[in-house]
Amino acid sequence: MTQEKHDQALIFELSREGRVGYSLPECDVPVTPSAELIPAEFLRPEAPALPEVYEVDVIRHYTSLSRRNFGVDNGFYPLGSCTMKYNPKVNEDVARYAGLAKIHPYQPEASIQGAMEMLYTLQQDLAGLTGMDAVTLQPAAGAHGEWTGLMMIRAYHENRGERRTKVIVPDSSHGTNPASATVAGFETITIPSTPEGLVDLDALRGAVSSETAALMLTNPNTLGLFEEQIVDIAAIVHEAGGLLYYDGANSNAIMGITRPGDMGFDVVHLNLHKTMSTPHGGGGPGSGPVGVKNKLIPYLPKPMVVRNPDGSYTWDREGEESIGRVKAYYGNFGILVRAYAYMRTYGPEGLRRVSECAVLNANYMMARLAPYYEVPFKKVCKHEFVMSGSSLKQYGIRTLDVAKRLLDFGYHPPTIYFPLNVEECIMIEPTETESKETLDGFIDTMIAIVHEAKENPELLLNAPYTTPVTRLDETTAARKPVLNCACS
Ligand SMILES: *Cc1c(COP(=O)(O)O)cnc(C)c1O
Repeated sequence: MTQEKHDQALIFELSREGRVGYSLPECDVPVTPSAELIPAEFLRPEAPALPEVYEVDVIRHYTSLSRRNFGVDNGFYPLGSCTMKYNPKVNEDVARYAGLAKIHPYQPEASIQGAMEMLYTLQQDLAGLTGMDAVTLQPAAGAHGEWTGLMMIRAYHENRGERRTKVIVPDSSHGTNPASATVAGFETITIPSTPEGLVDLDALRGAVSSETAALMLTNPNTLGLFEEQIVDIAAIVHEAGGLLYYDGANSNAIMGITRPGDMGFDVVHLNLHKTMSTPHGGGGPGSGPVGVKNKLIPYLPKPMVVRNPDGSYTWDREGEESIGRVKAYYGNFGILVRAYAYMRTYGPEGLRRVSECAVLNANYMMARLAPYYEVPFKKVCKHEFVMSGSSLKQYGIRTLDVAKRLLDFGYHPPTIYFPLNVEECIMIEPTETESKETLDGFIDTMIAIVHEAKENPELLLNAPYTTPVTRLDETTAARKPVLNCACS
């Protein structure tokens, strides 16, 4: 029996008929549900087959499952574009303060002025950091922020009586960009990158028209390269009547150094769960605040916290042109508290230092790995860089095999096969929170894997060896997915 099967079956195998893990007082209400209370069609004919086990068995079962989860708290996690930096635990403490954790969104304003001030200050701080005029904290993720921003762009053009249906994205863009544009009702036009990995200005000139609603761009882009011609790019789009959308999901390279607002962008979203070290939370809750320039303020989602002339705070719910509410209440409040604590702990100088160290760490890794893995864009990188595993093909080894082998050494693999414009792509983002020893340990392992590829490729083809689940059949997994675990 494989470890995985063993784990799934374990709790059921331990089951002994009649064994209970709890003791409750006698039930003093009818135990058989009556048809009056629950309609017959909703009653199951027999009790579900739950394992009958002791409490300790349940605890061991779940603890053992939790150990199989890889997180930044148990190892280095250089997943490019995802910024898996360490989340300082002091921010968790702050988010658990009773005055913040135990309030209700429908409480009277007068009783939550402190929380409202915190939200307001965070809005102002994020606007200052990005060079925008106003910020909404509602969106719950990066993609949600993109959609919110695009809906505002749509409302802006419609309000001016212009029919603009096309959103331009470079081929190196994050997959959520074209997806969000489509969900917001736009058609996407993909433009190729230059051989240097940057926006092709001629291609951009060819793509803009009176139908252009916006260009979506990440800068530094997903290859970790700074678009040095950003001012020209902005001019091309603006002259065509379009707006510029900055995908700031990952702003780890630019804090305190440059601002999307100064580069000419009209809208920006940030992922607090990347740049501001709030937890990624297994797919949620995240937070994707959106900042806009003045001309888009009327379209911001409502309600928004605003400051009255007397210094008190209130919910602004007015606004005919607002795109409406995009999230229940005011965003993922607990995540916003963590981000606020993080930004206040560092302060402006500290945030700049975060970016400087993130960029330094990435360049250090790139320089040490360049002799072993091909680096297609030979330039100083920002917070992340891409390299290629294509030189290992001669030994029958692909990037996927390198990633699988890394698992045996206790590392989370980098992002692979993304961006799509680099063959056998490996995308590494070390983040600023790792020590030189950790970076060196990972680099040495990557180099050791190259030697293994030359000397014993078979070893890599069958990796990993130390994980609960070994090599999966990815084709079958994609073609015939089994989406529920049949634990019976
Ligand atoms: C992570 C990321 C996104 C998407 O953010 P989610 O919170 O996962 O929706 C978008 N763009 C870039 C560049 C990213 O790195």
